[in-house]
Formats: sequence, structure tokens, C-alpha cells
Amino acid sequence: MKLYDTAQNDILELTPVDGEVFRFYCCGPTVYGPAHIGNFRTFVIQDAFRRTLEIGGVPTKHVRNLTDVDDKTIKGAIASNQDLTAYTDLWTDRFHRDCEALNCLPPHVEPSAVAHIPQQIEMIQVLIDKGHAYAAKDNSVYFKISSYEDYGKLSKLDQRELDLGKTQNERVSDADEYEKDSVSDFVLWKAYKEEDGPYHWDSQWGNGRPGWHIECSAMSLEHLGNTFDLHSGGVDLIFPHHENEIAQSKCSYGGDFARHWFHVTHLLVEGEKMAKSKGNFFTLGDLEEKGFTAAEVRFVLMGAHYRKPLNFTISSLQAAREALAKLSKAMFEMKRDYQLSDYHYEDCLATSDFGLFQTAWDVLQYDLNTQAAVGKMFAQLKRLNNLSEDDALITWKGWNALVHALGIEVPEFIEEKAIIAPSNIQDLAVQRSEAKSNKDWAKADAIRDELKSLGWEVLDTKDGFSFKKI
Ligand code: AMP
Ligand code: ZN
Repeated sequence: MKLYDTAQNDILELTPVDGEVFRFYCCGPTVYGPAHIGNFRTFVIQDAFRRTLEIGGVPTKHVRNLTDVDDKTIKGAIASNQDLTAYTDLWTDRFHRDCEALNCLPPHVEPSAVAHIPQQIEMIQVLIDKGHAYAAKDNSVYFKISSYEDYGKLSKLDQRELDLGKTQNERVSDADEYEKDSVSDFVLWKAYKEEDGPYHWDSQWGNGRPGWHIECSAMSLEHLGNTFDLHSGGVDLIFPHHENEIAQSKCSYGGDFARHWFHVTHLLVEGEKMAKSKGNFFTLGDLEEKGFTAAEVRFVLMGAHYRKPLNFTISSLQAAREALAKLSKAMFEMKRDYQLSDYHYEDCLATSDFGLFQTAWDVLQYDLNTQAAVGKMFAQLKRLNNLSEDDALITWKGWNALVHALGIEVPEFIEEKAIIAPSNIQDLAVQRSEAKSNKDWAKADAIRDELKSLGWEVLDTKDGFSFKKI
């Protein structure tokens, strides 16, 4: 499989460094509220990525953390008068439910920041010992960006931005998130502040808590070692989060850290990033309340290539419904016509021949082009007749494998059966037809209304009429 690498600006072949298992880390959710479907664009694409590797025959180890201690979770717990753990557990459960509904495979390891405080403290101490970090007057500990010459490479900070950060004496920031023009020494350990309430941990620098960036460095080291295959998140994480992770990880325990950087472009609403802070977001629950299914939401989220912005609209969900119905019908017919049986995800691992769906698979393997893969899949639907038994079998397995790689949940196909109406209703419909033939429109309309009041709608067809229950 090939994928664009943010660090090297190029589409590169992916190979596991250990020659066996592809090990990757995804920055997980901050569990202080429901994740919105913008967050899920990133998680669904990461899921399709993992599925594509596995279906292509590469086993994976997928680590995705939970950010359960930071400014937002502490503020939320205190505001709602709940214990931090009870509060973050609640949102973690909700996140898991949404992930399952969206057909995302659970990661192999899901470490939490709170459960890795000692590892974070240890990493900070190593950074101090090696001259990359210092405790400031405010008892917080900061990473000294001038001590790491590759700082800024991933996010392509320009010289002016770097100079600003490096030359101003003790220009420090204890905010977790900031823009490129406020680049500065960033916080590793935050000294205790009253607004943190009861949430603080003891350390050699006094009471406090870790900064946001150090958690991913410590957890990826713990679960993947100092060199692993790929690191991923939404594009907003490139700076400062991933830039800071690289600095911390490489300066503490060496190694290559992540060999490949995979970033997903934002989901937009009316041209703006969907974000909790902007209030312009939909959760999965919001859309389910409007009558849409999680499978339709996932289909929309995969409807654009991950490096292109995707503008979310409700009408795209309607289009997804129609596309899924078409897919369901086509799969039902192929299965019936060639007497085939379903292949589950596990049956499709290491599929090598996709039959008529080979070109769809090829574009998925080339920079995870989900949009093109879906398009090419639909283009084959008209070519499924008159296959030999062997070709049908290969194509069917390849089709199942492709659908599993995309994580599409195909709705059950329900054959439309002609509705038989009771005889009094049929009689009325015949009378209406006769009235229409006699051009007695008033009578025809009156009968239509009568049928309506009895709970039936009569539909005119080219051969006469059919019925629908209201
Ligand atoms: P958070 O819970 O805010 O830490 O975000 C979880 C993941 O969602 C991160 O990888 C973010 O980069 C990503 N993300 C946030 N907003 C969007 C969006 N509008 N579109 C795509 N990904 C997003
Ligand atoms: Zn992270």
C-alpha cells in the first residue's frame, strides 16, 4: 500500500519496520463531550486505512489513546460536579458506542493518559537530564525548542516563526494549543493551579499535571517502542501537537519515532472546520434523530479523498441512502443468481484477487482513495451478468473484501412485494378508474379522498394502478 507522508511530501510505500506487523498510533479523542462527525471523519478514515492494510495481507497493531486529563476534561468534570474519572468514563463509553455504530474496529490498545502519569514524569526527567527541558520559576517544566535543531520540520515552520520562538528569552507557553506565530518553549509539566481542583499529581517539580503533548510521546513509547511505522491525526494536530511529540520523543529516547505521518483533512460545514468550539457540529446521535443511519454517515465520511476537504450536508446523507440501497440490491442479486454465500471480514484477510473489482482495490491501495474506490465499485455493477462460475466466485470474494476494507455496512435488501389491498379498496380503485375514463374528475377525486380516509393511497401506473398503505 502507498500513502502520502506529511513529513516527506511524497506518496510512499508502507512497510512494517519489523517486517511483520504494521504498528501505528492514532491520537485519540479528548473525552469531555460527544465526539462530532468531524472527529469521526478522521477516525473512520483511520479505520479504513487499517482495514485496507489487513485485507491486503498486512497484520497491524493499532494504538489509539484517550485524552482524559487536560484543561477541557478537568474544567468539564468540575463544572458538572463529577469526579474526573466518572466524567471521562461517561464520554469514553459514548465514544465507544459511536465507534461501534460506525463500524470502526476497536484499536488493539487504548491507553489512557491518566494511567500513564509515571511514564510521562520519567520522560520529562530524561529531557531535563539531557538538556532539552528546564523547570521555570512558575514550577512548570518546559521543552527548550532551541535545543532541537529539527524543530519545525514536520509543520514547515519558517525561519521567522522559528526565530520568534528561539530568540525571545524565556518565551514560554503553558497552553496546549496555539498558532504557529506564537511558537515558543512548550509545557511538559504544568504546575498546580487552583482551577484544577483536586486533580493533581506529585512529582519532583511539585504538584501538577502533564501537558497534553507529552502524553502521546509517553504512551507510544510504552506500547510501540521508540520506532514505529506510522502516526496519525487530523491536520490540526500537525502543529503544535505532532511537532512537539517528535521533539520530546526523539530527544528523550532516540529512535526514529514515527516513520510515516498520515493526516486527515477537516470535515467542513459551510466552508468552516466542524469544531466543538464553533458550535457548528453534528454528533452521530443528532443525525440518527433526523432518521439517518450510522452506515449512511460513514458512507458520506468516506465520500471524499482524505487529503481533500469534505463539506458536510444533509442532502449527502440522502444520496448515501440511495447508493447503499443500490449496492444492497446488486449484492443480493449477484448472490442469488450465482448461489454464493457471504464472506466475513476475517475470511477476506490477505485477499489477492479482486476479480472485476481489482481497479477499485488498486485505487484504495494507492493513497487510500476511498472516493475513487467507491466510484469504481459502482461502475462495475452493470458488468456482473454472464460470468463463468469461477469468475463469479473470485469477483464475489473480491467485492466482499473491498466492502470490508471500506467498512461499508450494506443494508439488508428487502424485496418489494406487490401489496394486495382488500376487496372494498380494490372496488373503489376500479370505480375511480372508470370515473377517470369518463372524464368525471370530481368523482375520481372524491374516491381518491375516500381511499385516503381509509388509509390507502392509489398510485397510477402504466398498466393501471397499484396501492400504498399510508
Ligand atoms: P479531539 O477529540 O479534539 O482531540 O480530536 C480527535 C481527532 O479529531 C483529532 O485527530 C483531530 O485532529 C480530529 N478532528 C477534529 N476536528 C475535525 C474535523 N472537523 N474534521 C476532521 N477531523 C477533525
Ligand atoms: Zn496525540
